[in-house]
Amino acid sequence: MRKLLFQSLFYRPLTEAAPSPDEAGLSELATAVGRAARRRLGRSLSIREIDAGSCNGCELEIHALNNAFYDVERFGLRFVASPRHADVLMVTGPVTKNMREALERTYHATPDPKWVVAVGDCALDGGCFAGSYAVVGGVSAVVPVDLHIPGCPPAPMTMLRGLLALLERADSDATTA
Ligand code: SF4
Repeated sequence: MRKLLFQSLFYRPLTEAAPSPDEAGLSELATAVGRAARRRLGRSLSIREIDAGSCNGCELEIHALNNAFYDVERFGLRFVASPRHADVLMVTGPVTKNMREALERTYHATPDPKWVVAVGDCALDGGCFAGSYAVVGGVSAVVPVDLHIPGCPPAPMTMLRGLLALLERADSDATTA
């Protein structure tokens, strides 16, 4: 024990240095998402997260959007507890057979207009869980998907870029309709 304490005084920790924060880039991106939501919806964007069977890696990155660093609520992006209050369903994981009905019911409980965003490689086609007896497949095998954000897991900034692309596309579709 004494040796361990002695070593800790002289050796640096083995963890990697944290990346330097890109506060300006985050602020610009999240503000653009918030502005696009207000233009399209007339208010801030409400997101309901659904774990349809993921390993929770994608959840960790989604949760990071609400942590003290990203704190996206300050830009008008809110995570809500009920699909009845949501504009966007962010769905992670391969859809397991046990979660299929829950995903369908959540989709139908969400009022129109709504968008479904499949988050992560598993949400595209089952990813590394594809072919499992317990898995139905990707999210689009159960509900219509408007956008897929790739990655295993995708980083919070990648998710923000995806939401911005989704809202801009919805905006241009509404303009041309
Ligand atoms: S994409 Fe990767 S992190 Fe996300 S649920 Fe699948 S295995 Fe986990």
